[in-house]
Amino acid sequence: MSRDNVFVTRPYLPPLAEVLPYLEQIWQSHQLTNSGPFHQEFEVELARYLGVDHVSLFANGTLALLTALQAERVSGEVVTTPYSFVATAHSLLWNGIKPVFVDVDPVTFNLDPSKIEAAITPQTTAILPVHVYGCPCDINAIQTIADTYGLKVIYDAAHAFAVEDDGGSILRHGDLSILSFHATKVFTTFEGGAIVSPDAKTKRRIDFLKNFGFADELTVVAPGINGKMNEIQSAIGLVQLKHVESVLLERAAIDARYRTMLNGIEGITIPVQPRSRRHNFSYFPILVDSSYPVSRDGVFDLLRSHGIFARRYFYPLISEFPMYRALPSAKASNLSEAHRLASRVICLPIYPGLADSVIHKIGELLRA
Ligand SMILES: *Cc1c(COP(=O)(O)O)cnc(C)c1O
Repeated sequence: MSRDNVFVTRPYLPPLAEVLPYLEQIWQSHQLTNSGPFHQEFEVELARYLGVDHVSLFANGTLALLTALQAERVSGEVVTTPYSFVATAHSLLWNGIKPVFVDVDPVTFNLDPSKIEAAITPQTTAILPVHVYGCPCDINAIQTIADTYGLKVIYDAAHAFAVEDDGGSILRHGDLSILSFHATKVFTTFEGGAIVSPDAKTKRRIDFLKNFGFADELTVVAPGINGKMNEIQSAIGLVQLKHVESVLLERAAIDARYRTMLNGIEGITIPVQPRSRRHNFSYFPILVDSSYPVSRDGVFDLLRSHGIFARRYFYPLISEFPMYRALPSAKASNLSEAHRLASRVICLPIYPGLADSVIHKIGELLRA
């Protein structure tokens, strides 16, 4: 193994020669942003690739989340998960909404639908679940609760690019789904994001909201934000789409390799997450059990001492951060499964180009 450090992810970059003609076109046209030709083309091509009808591109996933909540006029309280990246709950605080944390399912790492109803109050207006590691939420159970109580469902699908269930894209569920194309995600435009909406009317409203609320040159219909994706990001997205299938195949192969290398190590659990028809292998989580001779943090340090920078996604839980921990729903006793997972999990490196020698080394280190 080379002594170069290995990180949990390394963004896939397409051949520069494929990007340059796009840049030349931008330099010629001087169209840099505001729904230029590459933006329009990427929206169409992305919707086609994902198998959804309506996509709105954003400068990043967090702006997409903020705007999705605005578009659905979500207010009051929202039921969400503590086991996610902090942006999930931050999007609620930025909209003046109170997050209500509900515990997760120990198998899927996702919001446990059987615990949602007890968290609903007259102030609740929506549920904000996350498809953690790209593993689909219990969509039917969540929709049944939402229908019963008249709640919106907005999926944080930042991990779920290209994931499908038996009916097609996982992104077609709920009222809206948001994606992130950040450098750490399976599909990247450096920074970027999107909202998937179910109909043209909703997309139109979202497109107003991401452009200051402009409906036309002289009409402002809402206090919108600047959430627009620019032409360079869109061009990179168009080129990335040509490579995403091979990226996903390579990730699948690495996942399979880990499963072979780590099979049967006492005290190391590879979660058996329910697989959708199409998975994206965005993360490779393992759980370090108390029967393993070294603690989770001990394993983290051991790997780091060999130049392998794994990540403890998601630790600490969102509910432990200072702006959330005083909430009644943030109490550890309310979130026992999430705490158990957060104290045991490590996400191992997975990305196209990850050397087999690294996977081998991790296997040897964990077995020794
Ligand atoms: C990455 C991520 C986001 C934020 O996306 P950005 O594009 O980085 O703003 C939100 N939610 C989850 C679950 C994420 O992993």
